[in-house]
Amino acid sequence: MIKYFFSTEKEQKHKKEKDHSDKQHPLIDLRDAWKTYRTGTVELTALMGVSLHICAGEFTAIMGPSGSGKSTLMNILGCLDQMDSGTYYLNGNDVNNISQEDLALIRNQEIGFVFQSFNLLNKMTLKENVELPLIYGAISGRERPRRALKALEAVGLTSWAQHRPNEVSGGQIQRAAIARAIVMDPAIIMADEPTGNLDTKTSRDIMDVFNQLNKKGSTIVLITHEKEIAAYASRVIQVEDGKILQDSSNRDDSKPEKTN
Ligand code: ADP
Repeated sequence: MIKYFFSTEKEQKHKKEKDHSDKQHPLIDLRDAWKTYRTGTVELTALMGVSLHICAGEFTAIMGPSGSGKSTLMNILGCLDQMDSGTYYLNGNDVNNISQEDLALIRNQEIGFVFQSFNLLNKMTLKENVELPLIYGAISGRERPRRALKALEAVGLTSWAQHRPNEVSGGQIQRAAIARAIVMDPAIIMADEPTGNLDTKTSRDIMDVFNQLNKKGSTIVLITHEKEIAAYASRVIQVEDGKILQDSSNRDDSKPEKTN
């Protein structure tokens, strides 16, 4: 059953229920996921019976060559697309056969997305960009600036809040995109090749931000094709030909040191 409501009273009740620290049930519980794309007479099965559990506090990288099914898996995990068969519980909610409207609500409440292409609006300041999910999430106008500034502070951008994306660096734009992803206090942060447009030094800075958020309790799922980026995660899942080939934990001593 979906536990999402619009009224203020019910929102508050939901907030109390929204406890991401419960390590007993997995935040992501995907079982036997199948997905086939049909273009004309051509059929391509991108996911072949994928099962995956991710618990609160994990930092997971999904790796694999181009065409292996990473984005398809991420789209399903992120409620951006639905599978043909299988079951999916996200933070205890059955998100399998629900309406597009409810899916949009779950995306807003439960998932913070970070993309390679940043997707910030140039006409708005960083703070206004970070406030956008709060507007969609019906958070009051009085509350929004406080929460946006708190999220910007968490990524080290307090003094840049009033700047527009075209006045800051690529790394700062991605930091702002991370602030936008965490501002609703989502159960999971999902990042799709978040360092794909950044140089090596800036990529390390951004991965340090994810590391810090994970240390403070955020659950992170990251798609990457780069080993050096996956090395920041504590768990690495290898996808190939629509299947999970390997699921392994990264030893702490093999993780990169914090860079300055
Ligand atoms: P990856 O993210 O690992 O590159 P994808 O999930 O994008 O892999 O793609 C997996 C397979 O599904 C590929 O063969 C791709 O061509 C195919 N595919 C992905 N999206 C579509 C689509 N919308 N229509 C048809 N085929 C698709």
